[in-house]
Formats: sequence, structure tokens, C-alpha cells
Amino acid sequence: MTETEIPEDHPRYASLLTRHRIEAGVEKGITSKQGLIAQGRGEAFDYLLGERTLPSADAAARAAAATLLSAERPVFSVNGNVAALVPEETVELARVVDADLEVNLFNRTEERMEAIADHLREHGAEEVKGLTGDGEIPGLEHARGIVDADGIGAADVVVVPLEDGDRAEALAAAGKTEIVIDLNPGSRSPRTAAVPIIDNVLRAVPNVTAHARDLADASPAERRAVVDDFDPNAALEAAERAIREGSFSGDEA
Ligand code: ATP
Repeated sequence: MTETEIPEDHPRYASLLTRHRIEAGVEKGITSKQGLIAQGRGEAFDYLLGERTLPSADAAARAAAATLLSAERPVFSVNGNVAALVPEETVELARVVDADLEVNLFNRTEERMEAIADHLREHGAEEVKGLTGDGEIPGLEHARGIVDADGIGAADVVVVPLEDGDRAEALAAAGKTEIVIDLNPGSRSPRTAAVPIIDNVLRAVPNVTAHARDLADASPAERRAVVDDFDPNAALEAAERAIREGSFSGDEA
């Protein structure tokens, strides 16, 4: 089935679209085999969350937008799953909040780095960082810690969707403010984030962009208030509660 053949009114449309894009990503050399496994885990959590954006995830997306707009050097870290699932939406968000795009892979190979950078350029990116690899996040095994010195290395705010727990912790320890997009509220990455967005990247990335557009003319004090009003632990708890209480058949508590 090609992407355009998936009927939009299919009850599992998002899930079929996701599978299709990840499969195409693997074929194009963008997504790794481990990425397929991560996808499976994400799909299970999305099912449990009701395949929708919880109100708490929407609040997190708004706090993320305010954080990005207030940042000095925001960077959006792109891995193989993100590039396969939301290339255009990622480029658009980076443009709206004036963030750099940096390819950052758990299993770094030059070939896959290039394939992802090309894919992002095909979807409108002008500059893609990550290929220089002249910086390092301390506390990680060398290959896992490689970043661009003037990209993630110098960033104050980093968006890290579907990030591995060790790297999320190391980024936080390096003083970065992290915005994590992850469907599993129990995973270490969202638990170390200043702003955990418990939602599918397919929905979360365009949602952050929409909030960023809405907050574009807000004053610094208004943006700060959005960030201060957001409670990461409450957002994680709301998602856990939704899963426990079977929100897929009802409303979020
Ligand atoms: P950790 O190391 O953080 O404790 P983990 O080992 O589960 O957790 P990985 O397997 O490296 O982490 O990353 C996969 C994560 O990405 C999972 O938590 C999964 O739920 C999430 N994920 C997969 N697909 C999506 C998606 N489309 N949108 C958001 N999150 C996703």
C-alpha cells in the first residue's frame, strides 16, 4: 500500500501511516532496524493513550513553544524515526522558532547521517548540522556523545524526540533545557526533560508549531508565565493516569 492509498477515515489511519513511513524510512536508509523496534513500542503506548493528544500533552506543547521562542540557541535533534515520520513538520517548526536542525543518531554511521540530512533538505531544510561532529556531550561513550560544537554543543534548549535515556540524562547534566517528545511517560527521557510531551511526534511537532505561531507576538513575560505554569511531573502523571484508567475508551482524568 502506498501512503496515498491509506484511507483517511480508517480507524487506525495514524498507525497505518506511521508504519508506512517508518518502512519507507528503512528502505531509504534513514531509519535503523532499532528504529523499527522503537516504533513498535511507541505504537503500543499510542494505542493505550487513545491515539490522541491529551490536554496535558497540549499544555506541554504550548510550554515547549514558549521555551523555544525564549531560547538563545535552540536546536532540534533529528534521528532516523523523526526524519521518516515528520520531515516537513520538523523543518517548519525549526523555521518558525528559528532553531537549528541537527542530525543526531544513537547508531551513528556517516551514510545514514548523510541520508537524513539529504532527506531534510528535500523537505525544505537549508542548513543541517551534525555532520561535522566536532563537539562532545560529556558522560557518554565517545560515539554516542558526538555532536556539532556550534549546534547541540552550544545550544541552551534542545528538542529531543524519541531519545535514549542515557543521552537524555547526559544532555540534562550538560545544562541543556530539554524538550522531549515520547509516548512512554515511564521512559527515562521524558522524566529528565524540563518539558516532556507525551504524544506521537506526528501530532506533537505540528502542535508545537501551532502554539509557537500563536505565541509569536506574546511578550517575554507572557511566555515566561506559560513556562512557569507548566508542571512536568503533573503532565507525566496525567499521561500515566490516562493509560491506567483506559482513557482510550473515555476522557482524560
Ligand atoms: P529509555 O532509554 O528512555 O528508558 P527506551 O529504551 O524505551 O527508554 P528507546 O527505545 O531508545 O527508549 O526509544 C524509543 C522511545 O520512543 C520509546 O519510549 C517509544 O515509546 C517512543 N516512540 C516511538 N515512536 C514514537 C512516536 N511516533 N512518537 C513519540 N514517541 C515515540
